[in-house]
Amino acid sequence: MTLGPTVQSVEAAARDALDRLVLDVEDFPEPGIVFKDITPLLADHDGFAAVVAALAAAGRDADGTVVVDKVIGMEARGFILAAPVALALGTGFVPVRKAGKLPRAAHAVSYALEYGDATLELHRDAIAPGERVLLVDDVLATGGTVKATRELVQRCGGVCTGVAVLMELSFLPGRATVGDLPVTSLMTV
Ligand code: AMP
Repeated sequence: MTLGPTVQSVEAAARDALDRLVLDVEDFPEPGIVFKDITPLLADHDGFAAVVAALAAAGRDADGTVVVDKVIGMEARGFILAAPVALALGTGFVPVRKAGKLPRAAHAVSYALEYGDATLELHRDAIAPGERVLLVDDVLATGGTVKATRELVQRCGGVCTGVAVLMELSFLPGRATVGDLPVTSLMTV
C-alpha cells in the first residue's frame, strides 16, 4: 500500500521551498520596508507545487475532507496562489480586487493603510449566502487586507472559515487585526 504525503511532510516541503526561494528586497517599495519577493518561488515548479499543497490543507478537515465552497485571492499575488489552491480543493476561485476593476455590481470596503487608505471590492453575486470561504494571500502584514476581505464576504452572506498565507510578519499585528479568524501561516518571519 502506498501512503500519500502526511500533512507534516507537506508543510516541511513548503517551508523548505520558502526558505530557499523567497528573496528579501530591502527598501522596496519604500525605505524601511523589506519586501518578500516570491517570484523565484513561483518560477520553481516543485516549490510552487509544495506551497500550493500546504495552503490547500487549510481548506480540509483532519480527515482530508474539503470544508470550503470557494477560495478567494486578494489582488494581486493572492490571485496567483489562490487559483491553484481552488483547483486542488475542487472549488471555484473568486478574486477580490482593488477599486474600479470589477465590471459588475460589487460590494466595497475601505480600510486604512499606513499612509492614506485603500478600497477592495467583491462582486455581489460571487459568494452565495451560507458559502464557506477560504482566503489566500502571500503575506499577512497588518491584517487590514484580510479584515476588509472578510467583511466583503459577510456582506454577500458568506462565512470566512480561515485565511492561509505563505508568511506572516511577526512584528506587525496581523493576527490581532483578523480577530477570531483562524490563520494558517506556513512561515513566521
Ligand atoms: P496587510 O498589511 O496585511 O493588509 O498586507 C497588505 C498586502 O501587502 C498583502 O496582500 C501583502 O501581499 C502585501 N505585503 C505587505 N507587506 C509585505 C511585504 N513585506 N512583502 C511583500 N508583500 C507585502
